[in-house]
Amino acid sequence: METKEKTAAELRREALLCQRKNGYDRLTAEDEAAMKAYCEDYKKYLDGGKTERECVDYTVRLAEAKGFKPFTRGMALNPGDKIYRVNRGKAVMLAVMGTAPLSAGVNIGAAHIDSPRLDLKPTPIYEDDEMAFLKTHYYGGIRKYQWVTIPLELHGVVALKDGRVVKVAVGAAEGDPLFTVDDLLPHLAADQSKKPLGEAIPAESLNILVGSRPFRDDTGSDRVKLAVLDILNQRYGITEEDFISAELSAVPAFKASDLGFDRSLIGAYGHDDRVCAFACLAALFNLGTPKRTAVCMLADKEEIGSEGVSGMKSAAFDTFMSDLCDTQRIPLKVCYEKSFCLSADVTAAYDPNFAEVYEKRNSARVNYGMGLCKYTGSRGKGGASDASAEVVAYARKILDEAGVVWQMAELGKVDQGGGGTVAAYMAERDIDTLDAGVPVLSMHAPYETVSKLDCYMTYKGMRAVYGAV
Ligand code: MN
Ligand code: MN
Repeated sequence: METKEKTAAELRREALLCQRKNGYDRLTAEDEAAMKAYCEDYKKYLDGGKTERECVDYTVRLAEAKGFKPFTRGMALNPGDKIYRVNRGKAVMLAVMGTAPLSAGVNIGAAHIDSPRLDLKPTPIYEDDEMAFLKTHYYGGIRKYQWVTIPLELHGVVALKDGRVVKVAVGAAEGDPLFTVDDLLPHLAADQSKKPLGEAIPAESLNILVGSRPFRDDTGSDRVKLAVLDILNQRYGITEEDFISAELSAVPAFKASDLGFDRSLIGAYGHDDRVCAFACLAALFNLGTPKRTAVCMLADKEEIGSEGVSGMKSAAFDTFMSDLCDTQRIPLKVCYEKSFCLSADVTAAYDPNFAEVYEKRNSARVNYGMGLCKYTGSRGKGGASDASAEVVAYARKILDEAGVVWQMAELGKVDQGGGGTVAAYMAERDIDTLDAGVPVLSMHAPYETVSKLDCYMTYKGMRAVYGAV
């Protein structure tokens, strides 16, 4: 067949206009096969870690199987060495040593592994009208109405005075009981239904139902609560007072699953931000020996402002990096000022069901690949790190050369809301930082949605960043 010659206008159009395509129109057969395998591993990662502690444990198991060793201060390091350090069981830093000295800087992928959930209060258990409940204090930005009448699991630890730390994961195993927070029946919800969405479910009504059977042969009060504590005592050796030194969280009991007839999407709890954590991790695992040292930071506490000893503001990261630099007698600041960080965190995917909150020309779209954000923040970029034009150009070049499908995005309309990531805290360290990650539908809901193509392209993007000189 004769190929028609392009008109002058068509040629100019191709040369001048930025015309993003759906990622599926650019996906090679090879990438498609790799994407499927990658997403199967990702779903296992989601089911294997429903809290930051479980994510750390699972990450360490994967890393050790790939030859990573715990890094202790003063240990000699050579190019190709794979190391990790766990911060208090709640955050983990991994590195693959490069052939270049640390004075050349490092390539960092920084994601977070904490997700919104219902934490138990220090004095959680009580009985009301012969039903036992646990009081909760929600963690992170949740829409409270989404957390009632869904199946919940209870995960976390109870630290005892004798130094033992008891792990709890009720609901995780086949046949385990589950928990829930009740809501009103529509028949009696006339008053509640008139309230604004944000007020219909007050935080103090997010109480988890945990039992209804009274303790046998006991004529005293609170027999249901006593019976529940008896079960906990027999199973974990704990008493009511031990809740004071516990970190227990109710998390959605959903397993990660394919969504849609075409299986192009994944539904799960905790895509924000385990979807980027896994991308960083998988990229690090498949790297070989890079030129610049590759660092993967999986942080805790991002959902409540990156505070605390396990959050991105903590000096634990600087101590790790400083210990690395000490092995080569290089000042930390020299390493930082040459480094590049991809703050790998999710962004909002454009949702046609709620089109009014997005500015379509600058929104991330499902299946259009890894979403770069020059800045996040709210009300005039407040709280954003705002990467420089040069940093964005650097990322464009790396991603294009690696054949990564990517897009540039903002999170919603200006003044509609906003959000933040760890980017600002990396930039404060004198590290050039850019936000990038997977677009998510229903972000922070108990069941969030992402596209497989975007997950895979974020992995591929992270892999390109780690491989860059
Ligand atoms: Mn996030
Ligand atoms: Mn978040």
